[in-house]
Amino acid sequence: MIFKIVKYPDPVLSKPGEPVTEFDDELRKLVADMFETTYASQGIGLAAPQVGISKRLTVIDLSMGKDPKDKLVLANPEIIDRKGRQYTEEGCLSFLEIREKVVRAANVRVRAQDEYGKWFEVDGDDLLSRCLQHEIDHVDGVLFIFRMSPLKRNLALRKIRKLQRDGEW
Ligand code: ZN
Repeated sequence: MIFKIVKYPDPVLSKPGEPVTEFDDELRKLVADMFETTYASQGIGLAAPQVGISKRLTVIDLSMGKDPKDKLVLANPEIIDRKGRQYTEEGCLSFLEIREKVVRAANVRVRAQDEYGKWFEVDGDDLLSRCLQHEIDHVDGVLFIFRMSPLKRNLALRKIRKLQRDGEW
C-alpha cells in the first residue's frame, strides 16, 4: 500500500514519535508499505510521522529499491556517535519544493532495532550519514528547515506560504 505523504505544517511532523514496542506482522506490513511509499516517491528515506503515524520508526534505502542489501529498517533509532561536519543540500518528501544546505555530522553511528526487534548498529558516511540524521530528526519531531540558518529558513517558509496561497502546497 502506498501512503499519502504528510506535508508541512501537519502537526504530526513536529511531534516526537512513540517508541516501537510491538515487533509483529502489523509492524512488518507497515515497514513494507513505507518502503513502497518511499520508492513511489523516488525518495531514499521515510519516517513514520511522514505517513501520519507517530512512531519512532524509519526506513532508508539509498539504492531506491535496486539493491536489497541497502534496505535499512530503524526502530527506536539513536545516534550514539558523531564525527566531523558536512554542509550539503538536502530535500524532504514533506517539503517537496524545498532543497537547501544543512549542517550535519560527517559520520554517525546509530543504534536501532530491526523489524524483528533485534538491536544492531550501523555506521554512515556522507549521504547515508545525512540520511540517518535527517530521518532520526523526523522521529524526534525535528524538521530540516529548523536545521537551516534563520535566513534560509525564512526564505523557505516564505516560499511555502506563496505555494499555499497559489494552492500548490
Ligand atoms: Zn524528511
